[in-house]
Amino acid sequence: MEIKKIRCYFCRQIKEGAVLSHYNLKVCVDCFPYFFRKRVQETIEKFRMFNQKEIILVALSGGKDSMSILKALKDLNYNIEALHIDTGIGEVSEKARETVQEFCEKESIKLKIVELNQEINLSLKDLSKISKKPICAVCGMLRRYILNREASGKTIVTGHTLNDEVAFILKNMIFWNDELLSRIDPVLHERESLSRKVKPLCLITEQETKLFCETMSIKYINEACPHRSEVYEVFKKVVLEINNNFPGSIIGFYKGYLKRQKSFYLETTKSVNLQQCRSCGYITVSEFCSICRLKEKVLKYKNG
Ligand SMILES: [Zn+2]
Ligand SMILES: [Zn+2]
Repeated sequence: MEIKKIRCYFCRQIKEGAVLSHYNLKVCVDCFPYFFRKRVQETIEKFRMFNQKEIILVALSGGKDSMSILKALKDLNYNIEALHIDTGIGEVSEKARETVQEFCEKESIKLKIVELNQEINLSLKDLSKISKKPICAVCGMLRRYILNREASGKTIVTGHTLNDEVAFILKNMIFWNDELLSRIDPVLHERESLSRKVKPLCLITEQETKLFCETMSIKYINEACPHRSEVYEVFKKVVLEINNNFPGSIIGFYKGYLKRQKSFYLETTKSVNLQQCRSCGYITVSEFCSICRLKEKVLKYKNG
């Protein structure tokens, strides 16, 4: 985002700042963190995400989105802990690990690091081959599994932004994945995801999380994951393009979707038969969960 001389809406002074065309608002670099935290607080309250007393577990990747929500929640005096999953894919992972460690130490935030290959001791590449799924899908599956287990009942905060949410909706509309579309919600309740999962950045753009990190001098990982899903990236680009051309349109689209969703999908669409995995207890649609089935395949593979 371009930083230039503007008259700030909040302090009324002419200072260095940005034009948030998304809100039709000019804000200086000193007032922006206040504005950002206020937006986060409003979102938490609007969707009744959590309160100041409960312990919240923030899934911390080291990217700008999760780093900015962690810092905002800390500043807003929430009771937070962080969990970082080390994906073990070389330099990017090492840098991410260092970044989150350094930040949590400085901010006195309790951080737990779990290594992805602790769950199944095989490279993502091999797991992708065995499961016949893209690396990104296997990685996501494992990360969700670990996150739910480590949360053990605590509410999980993820760094999903408005851009992520809208890209996800568009993607699932283009391919008509009704099951996923029916479940879109800034608050995923316990039953659907094992632990309660909330997205306090769901009304905030990536332009803003970047600006928050910059104005607060928060270091973050800028490198994209080498295995990221190309399909999803296409939709992320489309969303950015739409919002650049029609500022504020994606927030309108997202809010509109949440409002209309109930009439698109009746409660019956939502009620897939969830049960506990017979082996590990993880919530799943079949007898054994995807991770236990993958472990079984790995065992067969290893035994030839
Ligand atoms: Zn100002
Ligand atoms: Zn299982």
